[in-house]
Amino acid sequence: MAYFSHSKISTFEQCKFKYKLQYIDKVKVEIPTTIEAFMGSMVHESLEHLYNELIHKGVILRKKELVKHYLTQWSKEFSKEILIANKKFNAEDYKNQGVLLLLNYYDSHKPFNQFKTIATETQDKIKLGPDYYHIRIDRLDTNMRGLYLVCDYKTSSRMKTKEEIENDRQLFMYSLWIKEKFDDVKNIKLLWHMLKFDKDIIQDVDYTKADEVKNQVMDKIREIKGAKEFPATPSILCKWCVYKDICPYYNKNVTLDDLKEFIKKSKSRKVVANHKEFDVLKKINLESTNLSSNTTIQNKLKRFF
Ligand code: SF4
Repeated sequence: MAYFSHSKISTFEQCKFKYKLQYIDKVKVEIPTTIEAFMGSMVHESLEHLYNELIHKGVILRKKELVKHYLTQWSKEFSKEILIANKKFNAEDYKNQGVLLLLNYYDSHKPFNQFKTIATETQDKIKLGPDYYHIRIDRLDTNMRGLYLVCDYKTSSRMKTKEEIENDRQLFMYSLWIKEKFDDVKNIKLLWHMLKFDKDIIQDVDYTKADEVKNQVMDKIREIKGAKEFPATPSILCKWCVYKDICPYYNKNVTLDDLKEFIKKSKSRKVVANHKEFDVLKKINLESTNLSSNTTIQNKLKRFF
């Protein structure tokens, strides 16, 4: 029995070597995450807070309170080690971008009562043969008459294509969990909030398609469990990989033997890769970067502070 998630399977598909470092060798690196993922998680957390206040206290946060919550969380969680791959922007730019996404979402969805929100950030699992698939729905809404909406916040700069919408593995799997969990389900819709585009995309769930997706996921899990080799797949995405500094397929200063020796020497399986051992640490010098030059964001912010 093993646990799988959308991100675990996606990592295997993107680069098997990365999968091995992350899920088998459990190598922890000094770079905790990418700035894009960090900003996304801060926006997700703030929207979770917004809906939790509504569900549990019946309170609609004011726009200013929502932004204040986001900025407080950002200051608390931010670390200089976070990877900023796109050098055209700095941490302040990403922080401001998150504010803008929240403001746009707030204006488009207030008073947040189109449907009834019954859960945020669900933590559960669905059985897939001998294994489990992790279910984490950003927000679950219903009209209380058998319609359920699986809502997902996306902070990506790329709009989803029609093909991606019709084949979204993650949300289809979540729809199977809803069918199992609730007795009154008549209809399920998948809803993506494409925050950077201030646009919502809705797709009806076709149950035959959902079963097809389930079988594809089970096949993929069998492939992962049976994998004996984990070749690297270098690509443009390496720039955003938290292992890039210790990866011999990206960083030519590091040999595979260096990395193997490092992992072997580590007594605990939970190790923190000391980049200095490889002499490849690239410091992120936030102090030397300028404050945001994005006047649109700055002007929008001024209205709230
Ligand atoms: S840097 Fe590239 S090749 Fe290396 S583990 Fe990451 S994604 Fe794979």
